[in-house]
Amino acid sequence: MEYTVVGAGIIGLYTTWNLLESGVSPDKITVVAEFLPGDQSIKYTSPWAGGNFSCITSDDPNTLMYDELTYRNLHKIQRALGGASCGLDNKPSTELWDTYPGDTKVASLKSYLKDFQVVDKSELPEGCAFGIKFTSWNFNCPFFLANFQKYLESIGVKFLRKTLTHISQAYLTAKTKVVFNCSGIGARTLGGVEDTNVYPTRGQVVVVKAPHIQENKMRWGDDYATYIIPRPYSNDELILGGFLQKDDWTPDTFKEQTEDIIKRTTELLPKILDQPLVISRVACGLRPSRHGGVRIELQNIEDGKVVIHNYGASGYGYQAGYGMGFRAVQLLRESKSKL
Ligand SMILES: Cc1cc2nc3c(=O)[nH]c(=O)nc-3n(C[C@H](O)[C@H](O)[C@H](O)COP(=O)(O)OP(=O)(O)OC[C@H]3O[C@@H](n4cnc5c(N)ncnc54)[C@H](O)[C@@H]3O)c2cc1C
Repeated sequence: MEYTVVGAGIIGLYTTWNLLESGVSPDKITVVAEFLPGDQSIKYTSPWAGGNFSCITSDDPNTLMYDELTYRNLHKIQRALGGASCGLDNKPSTELWDTYPGDTKVASLKSYLKDFQVVDKSELPEGCAFGIKFTSWNFNCPFFLANFQKYLESIGVKFLRKTLTHISQAYLTAKTKVVFNCSGIGARTLGGVEDTNVYPTRGQVVVVKAPHIQENKMRWGDDYATYIIPRPYSNDELILGGFLQKDDWTPDTFKEQTEDIIKRTTELLPKILDQPLVISRVACGLRPSRHGGVRIELQNIEDGKVVIHNYGASGYGYQAGYGMGFRAVQLLRESKSKL
């Protein structure tokens, strides 16, 4: 039997990893995608992510589980890809909230985050209700994606550039019985899926050169998110953000947003300005959000074929995607289909 994974974003790669962990032979898996690591497109979100492990996610039980599974398992991927220089490393993080995030979320984070501690009230900036410190995972997203693909290819997984107009085209040979649909924002238009619950949450970021900043700092407000994320093994890149603009498809970047990001991030972490601010570039991406949350669902097709949908990771594909891939593969194992 052969398997196709549609999508070479972080969700497709994590799903492929989970398939391998479940015992599927690499030479039975083909990753099919319009865009592959190394490409840049507004239709390909993963290269644009910050990216780190943060407290951006909600506190429903599944989301908490996806985050925790990912946090606890990333070291395996890091090791397989050759260590931290693959673009995945640990860095300290401080997260601050204007409104307390709730006991459920905090208890979950406390149970597994390394070096977790609550920030003393006396140290909170004005307007902040709560804060934590912990050790996070930081990704150099484009570089990590490329290294992930390189590793998967080295063990025998095939990658095929192909644009699908219908999900049925993912059954590449008569032996292909299982398709994982990890098409991100593409799930809205891909024939046979056409999920109108999928919508973009646009985010603009400013990339600066800042070798002196080696920590994450995030502040969550009711109507804003400000974040500072160093990229490991990136020639000292620091990502400054951001915006969470629902249903905004704009691929362009805007000067006012750049100025606003720089104002907010340098107020949050003034030592950014200890060295001259050198902007390398300004970019934006569309987070693949979904009304109703992520879709991880097995659908039986005719002739014993199945498609397992795994998309809608919004602003947390890197930090929750291993867990999402785990669940998607678990659904396959649990399925009663005669495959
Ligand atoms: C500014 C910004 C900051 C972010 N920061 C973080 C962060 O710090 N931490 C974090 O965890 N997440 C972060 N995210 C979110 C993260 O980037 C996304 O959750 C993640 O990239 C989604 O991955 P994906 O694989 O679902 O989608 P994508 O990366 O978009 O991949 C989709 C794949 O499907 C393929 N595809 C789609 N349609 C078709 C078709 N018809 N035929 C063939 N192929 C198709 C595409 O070509 C592509 O290969 C951020 C996002 C943005 C924009």
